[in-house]
Amino acid sequence: MMDARIDVGDAERVLAEAMRAADRRDIYWSNELLYRWLATAKHPTYPRRLAYLRRLARSGGIPGAAVAFARVLAKRGDLNSALKVADAGLADARKLPGTLQLHVIENQITALRWTLAGKRVPRALARYLGDDDGYLFGRTCHVPFERVDIQDNGNCVVCCSQWMTGFSLGNVFDGNSASELFNNDQAVAARRSMLDGSFKFCDLVKCPKISGDNLPTKQHQFPEWQHNTRQALDRGELRFDGPSVVYLILDISCNLTCPSCRTHLITEKLELQLRKETLIETSIMPLLRGAYRVHVNSGGEWLVSRPLRRLLSRLSKAEFPNLHLSIISNGTLFNEREWSKFQGLHDLTDSIRISTDAARKETFEKLRRGAKWEPFVDNLAFLAGLRAKGAIKEFILSFTFQVDNFREMPAFVEMARELHPDTIVQFEKLGNWGTFTADEYQAKAVHHMDHPLHEEFLSIIRRPEMRQERPNLRAEYMALL
Ligand code: SF4
Repeated sequence: MMDARIDVGDAERVLAEAMRAADRRDIYWSNELLYRWLATAKHPTYPRRLAYLRRLARSGGIPGAAVAFARVLAKRGDLNSALKVADAGLADARKLPGTLQLHVIENQITALRWTLAGKRVPRALARYLGDDDGYLFGRTCHVPFERVDIQDNGNCVVCCSQWMTGFSLGNVFDGNSASELFNNDQAVAARRSMLDGSFKFCDLVKCPKISGDNLPTKQHQFPEWQHNTRQALDRGELRFDGPSVVYLILDISCNLTCPSCRTHLITEKLELQLRKETLIETSIMPLLRGAYRVHVNSGGEWLVSRPLRRLLSRLSKAEFPNLHLSIISNGTLFNEREWSKFQGLHDLTDSIRISTDAARKETFEKLRRGAKWEPFVDNLAFLAGLRAKGAIKEFILSFTFQVDNFREMPAFVEMARELHPDTIVQFEKLGNWGTFTADEYQAKAVHHMDHPLHEEFLSIIRRPEMRQERPNLRAEYMALL
């Protein structure tokens, strides 16, 4: 399956396009076009073309050539040689300034390692082991069409930064409004990558939708509020009136110092808070008027954020009739007294997610440094009561699994059910947000194949109560099974 814009019959043009992509440091397209050129050109002979690709791969200046050459070797079944080429390509690419798509090579290395270890490789990753079977070309993801995230430093992105490493729309503190950034050239490039099948900004391993083989097809009936996606798929439009979904990761202030998140207590300075309050007036409120959903606040605790408390105290169904609110909180301050101060939110809020990471007091107080278990459990009971009364549609308990807590995962499922039978349990992989050294992270990341406790971890996630077929279980570990 090919990108319709490229006529592969014109081999010289494909090669020239591959070199232009290499100049732009576009690893995905330089790889894909070189691979196509090798397979389809009539001149020179195949052995000479292959020798040329090998030279490009070894030159170190074109990382995409190393990916393409490793694909050729993998297709022949020479996985060890392919891995050597990909490893060398990654080392070379790291030396090149301005190279963003390192994840393309990292994804190929993962695909090769998993294949060598006899593990199942997700459908999307198979394209780095030989011919692309068009799987991703037949699929799409609504996120870049519908979403904008405003981070605490003003940086704007279209998806989780860990899944689209290094991708940015720009910064709202640099003079552009969030609405302008939502339709700039970078936004258009991200959307185009969803239509041409490249998904070149997405990490195919880290994104759970891709690695879990859960991307919808382009024929999927997207919900009515995801109308930008439909316009893009039906009419090729890539600029829109505004986002449907806004993630405000606006303030990293928090009352806790969880080891996975930070090393010290963070409270943003008053000057920065005041700047954000201005930003709320100039950039965020206009954005929310056309949005369907706003998520608050995965970067810190909203209840200790002055700008977010100000923003949320101004929202109401009367003024924002189409808006729905999803709250993410650590839950330690989320009690009935606080909730009663935000009357306008009661009709807007349909989802509350509490990041918990433990089913036992000792684990909780270790991983939620600064928190006490007993008042937290009282708050959970209050929030589960909101679900029981129908005041919210979703009550989510999330759990980031790692070496300190993975044995509690089944107990966590049980705890959630006891709070309310409809409680959604969301299991997520531990990421490294810069708080761990590479060795510390490796020691905690029990989901990694080479972790000494990985087999025990697998034995836990294979238990029947941990399977995704169960209602209300969202699990990032399914690709590991
Ligand atoms: S990383 Fe995943 S969720 Fe994000 S835009 Fe890409 S496919 Fe969608």
